[in-house]
Amino acid sequence: MITKREFYINGAWVAPSVARDCFVIDPSTEDACAIISLGSEADTDVAVAAAKAAFPAWAATPPAERRRVVEGILAQYYLRKEEMAHAISIEMGAPIDMSRDDQAECLPWHLKNFLTAFDHIEWVRPLGPHAPDSRIALEPIGVVGLITPWNWPMNQVTLKVIPALLAGCPCVLKPSEESPLSSMLFAEFCHDAGVPPGVFNLVNGDGPGVGSRLSSHPDVEMISFTGSTRAGRAISAAAAQTLKRVTLELGGKGANVVFADADAKAVERGVRHMMNNSGQSCNAPSRMLVERSAYDRAVEIAAEVANSIKVGPASLPGAHIGPVVNKRQWDQIQGYIQKGIDEGARLVAGGLGLPEGMNKGYYVRPTIFADVKPGMTIEREEIFGPVMCMIPFDSEAEAVRIANDTPYGLTNYVQSQDGARRNRLARQLRAGMIEMNGRSRGAGAPFGGVKASGRAREGGVWGIEEFLEVKAISGWDVSQDVAAE
Ligand code: NAD
Repeated sequence: MITKREFYINGAWVAPSVARDCFVIDPSTEDACAIISLGSEADTDVAVAAAKAAFPAWAATPPAERRRVVEGILAQYYLRKEEMAHAISIEMGAPIDMSRDDQAECLPWHLKNFLTAFDHIEWVRPLGPHAPDSRIALEPIGVVGLITPWNWPMNQVTLKVIPALLAGCPCVLKPSEESPLSSMLFAEFCHDAGVPPGVFNLVNGDGPGVGSRLSSHPDVEMISFTGSTRAGRAISAAAAQTLKRVTLELGGKGANVVFADADAKAVERGVRHMMNNSGQSCNAPSRMLVERSAYDRAVEIAAEVANSIKVGPASLPGAHIGPVVNKRQWDQIQGYIQKGIDEGARLVAGGLGLPEGMNKGYYVRPTIFADVKPGMTIEREEIFGPVMCMIPFDSEAEAVRIANDTPYGLTNYVQSQDGARRNRLARQLRAGMIEMNGRSRGAGAPFGGVKASGRAREGGVWGIEEFLEVKAISGWDVSQDVAAE
């Protein structure tokens, strides 16, 4: 068993102030795979103090030097990426090939996109020709607290830590207590890359302990959070007294609008996207809206595809899906499947219980409900498991109405060969992201939502700007600019 009880604070691994062990459970086997510690308010305070002490020097470090340090983290990843893939796979159940190709690869993908955006930032720029002695300066906000979930652990950690460091903000990361191993490995990358002491700190812990202390801490200027809408509300409330900036990436209930003229692979693509990562993605296309004339055939295809998706342990190579993260999630998903049946939706694939032949591990059968009516519980609430709802529609206007009638607004999807219609829908759907005909977001595009999906943008230049303050300066001595060149 892996034993990693220490936290990374001020450039060193330190013991928790009070011992509080926590087992990390491998969801494929239900066995403990690691012991970590859950931190306390005292541990949080020590980490925040280290970050605060590191702030002046890190904020004053020239951008080129901050860039060099971040490049060092990328170099460490390339040396140890197989370890990263294994850590993610064991802690949250992503099948090893998927962990290697998708989960772990989020780190270099986002990091490189951030570097590209970083190179174009003008840290001090003129306001405009109308105000020649005015300047706009971008400056780091200060110490930031970063709270991440377990479903795409390195995706979230990279989307927060890297832009914070590039912006000049020291940080305290509290990864999910379900998936701490990948983050502790990331801390080793930071250490070996030469991130100065105090600039990156990691304290493991739970929401009520380290999470709420970070959220209310007077020396933390900003909290960047990804996770549930419930925790997003709690963090916003805890942060209110200190008026810190709070950026939230929350849940979703994405609509995938499939028109009768969609390409032949559209339904299969939608189902596979839904089931990827065992349905544990906030941007999963969990509501498939299908034009009536194509609906019956779409239901048949969706059921066939779901039935063909294999479920198995994370350690097994191959393109199967793994378990969901823990017993609580498994129980919750089973509850939703039962609710769908009780409320009269038509179960066409999967259903309750473990997949055939399995008696251990948090595995869920890839499940499709047809004839789901807008307003049913499974249509409204985020299930966060491999369960997809299918809903017929008769007109474009009805499709838009159903798609938008949700508390969430993260990603919506459109499948149609009609370009004018696609562009129309792209503007009418209320969400932070619209992906059409299977085209994923381009490099450096912002990730984030509207409404209950939170209001933040991560990735690319927007992701760096989240950690910056904008300063307006007037009376600038322009002759000094020429002298400095
Ligand atoms: P969660 O909200 O319970 O936990 C997320 C993180 O917040 C963990 O680190 C946890 O310890 C911490 N936390 C929990 N309560 C807290 C509190 N009161 N104060 C401070 N920190 C607290 O969610 P989860 O179960 O880990 O993740 C699943 C949820 O996250 C889903 O709803 C999913 O849609 C959402 N999610 C959203 C995105 C996005 O980018 N929008 C990405 C991934 C996951």
